[in-house]
Amino acid sequence: MRLGLTGWPVSHSLSPRLHNAALRAVGLDGEYNLYPVDPSEPDGLLNLTQKIRSGELAGLNVTIPHKQNIIPMVDELTSTAKLIGAVNTIYLRNGRLIGDNTDAQGFLTDLHKKAPTVMSSPGTAMVFGAGGSARAVITALLNSSWCVKIAARDIQKAQNLALYFSNQPSGKSVEAGFLDQQFMTSLMSSVNLLVNTTPIGMVPNIDQSPWPADLPWPKSLMVYDLVYNPRKTKLVNDAISLGLGAVGGLGMLVEQAALAFELWTGVEAPREVMYSAVE
Ligand code: NAP
Repeated sequence: MRLGLTGWPVSHSLSPRLHNAALRAVGLDGEYNLYPVDPSEPDGLLNLTQKIRSGELAGLNVTIPHKQNIIPMVDELTSTAKLIGAVNTIYLRNGRLIGDNTDAQGFLTDLHKKAPTVMSSPGTAMVFGAGGSARAVITALLNSSWCVKIAARDIQKAQNLALYFSNQPSGKSVEAGFLDQQFMTSLMSSVNLLVNTTPIGMVPNIDQSPWPADLPWPKSLMVYDLVYNPRKTKLVNDAISLGLGAVGGLGMLVEQAALAFELWTGVEAPREVMYSAVE
């Protein structure tokens, strides 16, 4: 069974470690490789999708910058991929090439594991950032009955995203503002979950945090940082030092990979093994 990841660049990815460990652990004969596709290469992605159609590849993960580029090449999007507007997993079902997205469910599953009490009574979540992963996180939170506020440095992007989700048939109204002290101060008393979807704090900028410098921290808040390199960012460490709940994004990385593995193989993913492979 041949699996892999396409994107550009992909050499830094932890996915081969995760999936090759999983394949070995469940006794499947297969390998997970990297298939870098330069965005300027016209037929690169199409050739890869043909390999899935012909059975040469059993499935692929898709990452930046191809999560949207791949959409016209699949036959069908799952409802989640459609709502997020991006694909991170593709596979063949009954001869049709399916574009799916496991990021939203991966995030949600890990959040349920790490913060069961917070998840048992959904309130208001503040999402930092308005990029690709923000769309997956907002989809997951809205589906779980959370109210969502978006804070981003690009107010136009944040407002467009808020409008997009507010206009969904089952959508709640989503509010957006600048990622700054003023917007946050007006909302912080009602926010009980903060999700960072910006890369701030990621290696090598480990001394940076998206939390506005002069903003006091609330007494109660759960912090989920999608950044997993380092395992604990400054945002996570600052929150923990104040006695707040806070986790990094490694669990989400493992969960979204485990869900993709199950879609490709039909076998339950060995999550512990996958976690150990990247921990
Ligand atoms: P993306 O599409 O590029 O979006 C990043 C967002 O962060 C954009 O809104 C961007 O604003 C904002 N941003 C970037 N630098 C900023 C800064 N210095 N100050 C304020 N805002 C800033 O990226 P993504 O795919 O969403 O990924 C974001 C992070 O999440 C990465 O660190 C990635 O590794 C992590 N991630 C983790 C998982 C996981 O499984 N744990 C999954 C997906 C992503 P502009 O639009 O203005 O540039």
